[in-house]
Amino acid sequence: MLFQELAETYERLEATSSRLEMTEILAESFRLFDPTDIKMATYLTQGQLYPDFHPLKLGMADKMLLKAITFASGAKESEVQVLMLREGDPGLVAQEIISRKRQTTLFSEPLTLRRTYETLEAIAKAEGGGSQDLKIKLMSKLLSDASPSEAKFLSRIITGRMRLGVSSMTVLDALAVAFATKEDRDAVERAFNVSSDLGLVAEEMALHGLEGVTRIKVEVNRPLRAMLAERMSSPEDILEKLGGTCAFEYKYDGVRVQAHISRGEVRLYSRKLDDLTSQFPDVVAGLKRAFAAENAIVEGECVPVDMNTGEFLPFQEVSHRRGRKYGVEEAVEDYPVKLCLFDCILKDGEDLLSRPFLERRKVLESCVTEDDSVVLSEMRVLSSAEEAQKFFLEAIKEGCEGLMAKSVADNSVYRAGNRGFLWIKYKKEYRSEMNDTADLAVVGAFAGRGKRKGVYGAVLMATYDVQADRFQTVCKLGSGFDDANLASLLEMLAEDRMAERHHLVDSKMTADFWFQPRLVLEVRGAEITLSPIHTCAFGAIRKDAGLAIRFPRFTGRFRDDKEGREATTSQEMLVMYQAQLKQVE
Ligand code: ATP
Repeated sequence: MLFQELAETYERLEATSSRLEMTEILAESFRLFDPTDIKMATYLTQGQLYPDFHPLKLGMADKMLLKAITFASGAKESEVQVLMLREGDPGLVAQEIISRKRQTTLFSEPLTLRRTYETLEAIAKAEGGGSQDLKIKLMSKLLSDASPSEAKFLSRIITGRMRLGVSSMTVLDALAVAFATKEDRDAVERAFNVSSDLGLVAEEMALHGLEGVTRIKVEVNRPLRAMLAERMSSPEDILEKLGGTCAFEYKYDGVRVQAHISRGEVRLYSRKLDDLTSQFPDVVAGLKRAFAAENAIVEGECVPVDMNTGEFLPFQEVSHRRGRKYGVEEAVEDYPVKLCLFDCILKDGEDLLSRPFLERRKVLESCVTEDDSVVLSEMRVLSSAEEAQKFFLEAIKEGCEGLMAKSVADNSVYRAGNRGFLWIKYKKEYRSEMNDTADLAVVGAFAGRGKRKGVYGAVLMATYDVQADRFQTVCKLGSGFDDANLASLLEMLAEDRMAERHHLVDSKMTADFWFQPRLVLEVRGAEITLSPIHTCAFGAIRKDAGLAIRFPRFTGRFRDDKEGREATTSQEMLVMYQAQLKQVE
């Protein structure tokens, strides 16, 4: 098949914005294309060479492409640059320059789709010394044989500007129309949802029709599209919607990860199906240790943790781990994460998609050995809204966003690529900010681990209760310290060390070291929450809870102008809590 046929289809698609018309144009073209070429044609229509999850991406900087256009056409570099300034679209530049050239040259070899695809593939694969020249050479060869219209689309594809407006859903519509009937659309979409590979679905449809796509199954190392949740705002509504009983889980605030495990090899994919494997070697190692199964596909949330306190950290911390090519090892140490697993989609070759949620959970539990880095999500099957609300508060206290409610009915299958009420998210509506910093007294400390070996890993901080003349704990502080701060802390606290807890300190936590409450540090937190383990204003809001600062961070300021009793008071903390935009109650 000639690339020109595809370019003609693109010209027609470009001329419309109606989804219906696009579907008709595509369906018509699909029927005419050679079935063995349809896979390549489908990827190129999306501006890609492979499915989304393939690590190899096509791309070329505008500057390089303009060079290729210059070589292919013999035009002057300045001429090409001026045109680029005017048009702003390298596709239009290529079209114009190549059409000028076409008027003067007679010979060119027609481009087949296969040659076009394979050349683009060679460009994507070129790396190392001399690869830039090679890429330009390959592209200029393609362009010198291209028609103006082909040159336009080739240039857009290679610079990531193939914006025809054809979504994957439109391609699926067209495939159903071209090779089956509109009524078969769901079956075609199912195949896409479990494979995430539009090219594969197109090829199966073209070669074998509906039968072909129904054979497409979940496979290890081919990520499926994530199941998504609807949202509701009260446990009562959720329970009613889910038939009176459902599974509630912590809703972790991190990065969703789909892990594919096969004979000890692990690959990780993001919610958008990007390959995350190289960025999370610690999660890969954790999964290798945790899994007994021969092969499996599991899902979970990768959450940043404070290695010293074991607490979850704000989501932003995990962003330091994303998109890295270099410094991965340092990032693993500096920003440790924990994987909280919540679903199992395949185990030992058996596809679990159509099994009810609790069965999948059982399988997950049976094949995972939990450790520091890989755990199962916290889950409770509940029928009472009150209990659910309690669980919700617990989740918030632990640094989670709220709860995920999951249907436990017979039809609670895993719906790849679908958003529906089988999963319902129940989140805190407002993330209330702590408006002010607090000056807190150091009353205890915990021995450092890992990079903090030899210094304090975290310190136990307290407010001062003016009425009772007591120091009451409000958080365990581990973030915001640099190496110099940690060294100073060791020195500054040396003289305050005590053999046991100071008699004025109220603490439910047992620290490794205790201090006379003298040193004051300035601390900023995300918000103030209720907590059964901290003693600040205990019982003032709820009889079994005190106040705690969530995600505390040292601002870098040692308040050496203050002494212990000048720390923020428990009474002030209470006012700050009440002033928050929305309290969690
Ligand atoms: P969505 O994924 O629904 O489009 P979003 O990306 O904004 O929306 P949220 O609305 O916060 O995410 O909720 C869904 C996400 O919550 C999931 O994609 C997953 O990453 C995360 N999550 C955390 N804990 C769980 C859990 N226990 N079960 C399922 N998902 C969880």
